[in-house]
Amino acid sequence: MPNLKVSKLSNKNPTKDISEDDKKSKLMLSTSNKKRLVKISNTLIFGGKKIPIIAGPNGVENKKLMFDVAKQLTKLKIQIIRGHAYKPLTFPYRSSKYKESRNEGMDIMDIVKKEFNLKVVTEVTEMRFLDRILKTADILQIGSRNMQNLELLKEVSLTKKPIILKRHFGSSLRDLLGAAEHILVQGNFNLILCERGVSIPHTHKETSRFALDVHAIPALKELTKFPIISDPSHASFWAPWVPSLALASIAAGCDGLIIEMHKNPKKSLVDPLQPLNFKQFKNLVQVSNKLSKVLGRSIT
Ligand code: PEP
Ligand code: MN
Repeated sequence: MPNLKVSKLSNKNPTKDISEDDKKSKLMLSTSNKKRLVKISNTLIFGGKKIPIIAGPNGVENKKLMFDVAKQLTKLKIQIIRGHAYKPLTFPYRSSKYKESRNEGMDIMDIVKKEFNLKVVTEVTEMRFLDRILKTADILQIGSRNMQNLELLKEVSLTKKPIILKRHFGSSLRDLLGAAEHILVQGNFNLILCERGVSIPHTHKETSRFALDVHAIPALKELTKFPIISDPSHASFWAPWVPSLALASIAAGCDGLIIEMHKNPKKSLVDPLQPLNFKQFKNLVQVSNKLSKVLGRSIT
């Protein structure tokens, strides 16, 4: 019989995944004790008492849709619009109606931004698109599929723009913080981390793609002082579950939400099961406000 020496196992370091040595020598920037706020404008800060909501459709489909979304956000005093002009898709086969709007999409975002005085979040999939994106975007999103695209992380960091780094759906917190470290080491500390669901056997529903790892929010808060936001839309893939998961994220201490919303979700050219419609989104903002107040915070 092997002698397992169980008595020698220690539970002094409960963050089993990340050792003290990692924190000192490998993850020293992402795990430093300095509280990091990411300031987008005087009234829009990630990591403080206010919880910013980022909302919009998956892709920048057309100008009318983005105007309708922007109007709805403005009514609800939400300050950040999302929409991707460049997009990775899970499968190479696209609806014949769908194409990345690319530069044309960025031009639409530019008009919307000026007309409604909103901040813009959009995804950077490749370095060659960066110059165009930089002319319009206020926050650059690194999608989960690119979490460990190290050259992309470096180039995006060097722009000094605020960055949302999404956790890959198969990555540990150690991998996420390692990727974050690749951004921080270039000197850009405007970093927001995003939990967006992890792959597990699909026990909920055949259409539910990921499980939102709500647990990761307090766990990351213990490890890092950078803001942690949550994306319940991409986690659940199913609009009826998004509000509950958004509220769970607020209860767990998240510093922001990404919510997919669309004027007519059924007509969304990508992932039509997951966006909230305008009414559902309004409800979510109202309930989120109530819950945040109980926790001494508020939605912005
Ligand atoms: C998105 O934000 O539209 C997206 C594709 O997210 P993720 O990279 O988390 O899948
Ligand atoms: Mn999407």
